Amino acid sequence: MSLLQVNEVTHSYENRTFFKWKNRSRKVLSDITFSIEEGTCLGILGTSGSGKSTLGKVLLGLQKPQYGQILFQGHDIYNADKHTRQKLRRDLQVVFQDSHSAVNPRMTAERIIAEPLENYEKLTLNEQKRAVIELLENVGLDEKDLKKYPHQFSGGQLQRVNIARAIALKPKLIVLDESVSSLDMVTQTLILELLRELKEDFGLSYFFITHDIKAAYTISDTLGVLEKGELIEHYNSKKDFFNSEHPIVKEMRSSMLAEHPRFRSIGTRNSTL
Ligand code: ADP
Ligand code: MG
Repeated sequence: MSLLQVNEVTHSYENRTFFKWKNRSRKVLSDITFSIEEGTCLGILGTSGSGKSTLGKVLLGLQKPQYGQILFQGHDIYNADKHTRQKLRRDLQVVFQDSHSAVNPRMTAERIIAEPLENYEKLTLNEQKRAVIELLENVGLDEKDLKKYPHQFSGGQLQRVNIARAIALKPKLIVLDESVSSLDMVTQTLILELLRELKEDFGLSYFFITHDIKAAYTISDTLGVLEKGELIEHYNSKKDFFNSEHPIVKEMRSSMLAEHPRFRSIGTRNSTL
């Protein structure tokens, strides 16, 4: 059984207008089917507006699709009983793009990270503090950062705080929605490295949403390409992605190769580039 199975998901948003008869619904996701295996990262590539974030929300249980089904460990997440829903909320976490707007500016790192623990674990204050320090250490920060406020962190450090919060409840799957996109290249590389380590250490799975082919290529085990709400390609390996003849994929790939000499050798080896 796959960790997550997405079956024929279709979703439209209703564009409400003052005059009801003018309301139009726009299809944003169209007949999407794929699965994520435990301990793997599925990268979803797509241009802006292709439906990536909507798909992320659908997986997180935040946006019920009009059609289709999401099975997490075999449970239909939109038709689960209360106990299962509560467990799902622990097992499914998210890290968004903008680290600053994702946190309350008046909360210290300690409180930001402790929040999910307060909601779901019954720890004493001492135990909770120790858990938060351990989480900070897991993401490359330390005890000195406990009392800092968001504005006292750099973008990359604050994204580490967000990641610490996301792993606090030992989830199974994390949706990373453009989580490294607003960081500079060096920080991006460090955060991707951290994500990869955490994936190994905690057996995490990721749904890694990005418009950045290099980031997707670095971290993903399998790759999908979303275009105008359709999953136009889905590869079980990066090698398949590099060998794809799909015109949109070829275009994405050539922009990556042009920019990064490091990837040119991969292209030469696969000879289709
Ligand atoms: P992406 O993350 O790939 O940029 P989104 O899932 O955010 O794409 O958006 C896909 C399309 O759905 C866009 O055209 C966007 O304007 C529209 N959209 C997103 N959220 C809503 C919403 N809450 N209501 C109406 N339309 C939306
Ligand atoms: Mg988005």
